[in-house]
Amino acid sequence: MDKYIIYCRKSTDEATKQVLSIESQVAELKEFAKSNNLFVTEIITESKTAKEPGREKFNSMLKSIEEGKANAILSWHADRLARNSVDGGKIIYFLDIGKIVDLKFPTFWFDNTPQGKFMLSIAFSQGKYYVDNLSENVKRGIRQKLRLGIWPLKAPFGYKNHPVTHNIVIDKKLSKLVSNCFTLFLNEKSFVKISRYLASNKVFGGKGKPLDLTRIRRTLTNKFYMGQFFYKGEWYKGTHKCFIPKELFDSVQSEIKKIEKPRTDGHRFAFTGLARCAECGAAITAEIHHKYYKGTDRCADYTYYRCTKKLGKCSQKYISEDNLKSEIKRIISAVALPSSWQSDWKKWFEEDKKLETKLVSQKSHNFENEIKLQDLKVSRLTDGYISGDIDPEVYKLKKNEIFEEKQKIAEKIAVLKEKGGLWLEPFENFMLRAFQARKIAAKNVVAEELRSFAKSVGSNFILEGNSLQTDYKLGYNTACSERAQNSPYFATRSLFAKRRRRDSNSRGC
Ligand SMILES: [Zn+2]
Repeated sequence: MDKYIIYCRKSTDEATKQVLSIESQVAELKEFAKSNNLFVTEIITESKTAKEPGREKFNSMLKSIEEGKANAILSWHADRLARNSVDGGKIIYFLDIGKIVDLKFPTFWFDNTPQGKFMLSIAFSQGKYYVDNLSENVKRGIRQKLRLGIWPLKAPFGYKNHPVTHNIVIDKKLSKLVSNCFTLFLNEKSFVKISRYLASNKVFGGKGKPLDLTRIRRTLTNKFYMGQFFYKGEWYKGTHKCFIPKELFDSVQSEIKKIEKPRTDGHRFAFTGLARCAECGAAITAEIHHKYYKGTDRCADYTYYRCTKKLGKCSQKYISEDNLKSEIKRIISAVALPSSWQSDWKKWFEEDKKLETKLVSQKSHNFENEIKLQDLKVSRLTDGYISGDIDPEVYKLKKNEIFEEKQKIAEKIAVLKEKGGLWLEPFENFMLRAFQARKIAAKNVVAEELRSFAKSVGSNFILEGNSLQTDYKLGYNTACSERAQNSPYFATRSLFAKRRRRDSNSRGC
């Protein structure tokens, strides 16, 4: 009498209704064995995929058969036994050498003849074909999407997968939330507040908890919002629409960098870390002195700044915060330009801007040619890759390099078109500050503002006794030194635009 092993399998990836559950398979097969008078020695169940060889229970079944404990298998269908050529081949080999004498399937007729084995091998490979085809279709779909610049997976936050076109489209409601997050971050500079904001709008992470901060960070730094995405080691230029302005995105990136810099000492004091000691080069720190006034019976706190003296002996003494403040104000007011010049400077600057626009269109034309050159490189590279002359890893690497290069050029074009010449913006900032300086120095502004203004006009602040010194940044020195004689617009401007070829320096300077 032949000894049958009942083998039942259903893997977790077979969620389809066509495949019976393991329990039903067992029940059906027991019933089948009973009505066909089959002698069953063992029932084996397995919830693993048959796509790849290496199923544990399947192998132990083959071992039992090899050892002669059984010589036949009863299973629901051939595809329960094998969906890959290795396992299918083993079954057929066992049939060939007589270790297996019979296979029975309620849903598939098997006859142990050359014809029957042929049909069986087809049934096994049909299973394989189904699996191969499925993954091939998925792969093909992904490749096609990548080629079209479509993100192939679940749409990022603020977008949705269109159910019909399968494109990535903007989700009206969520995109508003996302862009609010960017603006909010710029104001609050806090991931926690973003998480709270989203929670108040019913956007949660797992288990109904507020989104964790890593996810917030990932969203705020996701270049997808700038039209790029990274998939399996490669950067792609997406074709999805963007709803975050580039300027906003860039500002958020630099704010994130700032808050992620490890903080130095206490930020409670506005001017710590601003200057170094002139005598020993150590940092300047702050401390609070408490003073008690006997006559009026009250306490008062005063902030003082001093050298940390961490680098050795130093004879420097304290400076009060008020004195330090007036030193900073002196430095700022030194770069102030008279407001009577402002209208002329503005006018000249507008003229410069127009001139620059001409130059810009010339330059961007050149950049566009460079991009064409990069595109040509890509197509040559792809040809080499397809013909097999180029190794896939090298191909990926090179392609990414070219992509980055193109990205850089594209950014240059964007900057050119947006700002109209690279030097205009810093120069405009300079003018803005130089005309603002007098007010800042005169007003009673908060200490943080004073500090940041000082840092925007100078660097390398050095404290000696009660006197603060700095190296002025580009433009301020020239503007100051020439101020006495004439309005130094053109002299200063040419510092910013070194390659200027302007004829008219007859005006004003
Ligand atoms: Zn010192």
